Amino acid sequence: MLLSCIADDLTGATDLCVNLAREGLSVIQVNGVPSAAIDIPAADALVVALKSRTISAEDAVAQALAAHAWLAARGGTRFYFKYCSTFDSTAQGNIGPVTEALQQALHARVVPATPAYPRNQRTVYRGHLFVGDLLLSDTGMRTHPLTPMTDANLVRLLAAQTRGAVGLVAAEALDAGPDAVRARLAALAAEGKRHAIVDAIRDEHLTTAGLAFSDLPLTTGGAGLGVGIARALRGQAGAGSGVWARPAVPPRMAWLSGSCSDATRRQVAAANANCTGLRLDPMALAADPGLASRIAADAVARSGDVPVLVYATAAPAEVAAAQAALGAARAATVVEDAFRGIAGALAAAGVGAFVVAGGETAGAVVEALGVRALAIGPEIAPGVPWTRALGERPLWLALKSGNFGGDDFFARASATL
Ligand code: ADP
Repeated sequence: MLLSCIADDLTGATDLCVNLAREGLSVIQVNGVPSAAIDIPAADALVVALKSRTISAEDAVAQALAAHAWLAARGGTRFYFKYCSTFDSTAQGNIGPVTEALQQALHARVVPATPAYPRNQRTVYRGHLFVGDLLLSDTGMRTHPLTPMTDANLVRLLAAQTRGAVGLVAAEALDAGPDAVRARLAALAAEGKRHAIVDAIRDEHLTTAGLAFSDLPLTTGGAGLGVGIARALRGQAGAGSGVWARPAVPPRMAWLSGSCSDATRRQVAAANANCTGLRLDPMALAADPGLASRIAADAVARSGDVPVLVYATAAPAEVAAAQAALGAARAATVVEDAFRGIAGALAAAGVGAFVVAGGETAGAVVEALGVRALAIGPEIAPGVPWTRALGERPLWLALKSGNFGGDDFFARASATL
């Protein structure tokens, strides 16, 4: 294994997976720290997706150390802690405490850190994080409900979360190349610094940083620096090159949509023009406990050469009406429970590929199908890959959160597989 990654949330993990796979690494994502018994094949990179961004620092550290132990037991020696490109954290953490716990476990000296991703308008200059033209603290992140970011100075921000002192690797060192970056890290270590915020104002800076850091036991950052590190390592790739594989025979496919985002509504409308979908109405589901299983049976009967579409996707007024009648939580729960049952029934009937729209919906479906580990395949749309579930029975999944993908996303998903 070339790279062991720990991500602090699920969609962030997939973001990283896609970037690593694009650089030519074979990648497996596991959701949560698996039990010791679970059998995961070899791959160039393993990514453990946690949900630790906004939990207590103590819990986040415990989860990260459990992920570290699981990865180390699989031979992991080079670790990447992935967080958001807007450095989402609270005054207490969890970026600092998790980094220091991993630093201690890995006996790392100075740990480089950068959320920069210039291609996506996230740059770091003189240690300050910009989103496009704005300092982070002048963006909407200032009033984020869970992780308000009121300071764009990452050196100060990280120092407030760590025991160890924080220094800076400035853009000039990145312009000068990997040796200059390594020399700067060594100088910071000699000064007693334990962390280094790394500038990056162009994507090439991340490539340089990747070369400079690829031998370190621990590096932290966003999906962008992940690209730099993968680029530095890809010459050694080759483990588990077969973990992602297309189905030998096109499997029967289901399209399940619980997202009500604008993009998904257009995608469902386009899909509905080709195959008549089955609609889930939260109020009808709540009123009739047997309805979900009748719809599941109907979906099974319809699934064949043409994918079967089941959707709860609705316009804002319909969603508001359901929420007014049932409460938002119950409306969501009846829909998610219906999708759990429908996905289970379809899989039991031999449907082998699922395209799922909606982050929460995808979580429910993945849970119902008992999927713990996914091998990352080709992208259908930026950031949304096909994945192969690693389990006893072959299963292909494409999990899309709300606003991703073009109008023809469902058809494109079928074509891509
Ligand atoms: P997204 O990625 O777009 O946020 P999610 O699946 O995460 O999509 O969230 C959508 C939520 O809305 C889910 O909990 C789903 O069960 C719920 N939902 C779907 N359709 C309806 C509807 N017609 N009325 C009310 N809630 C709905």
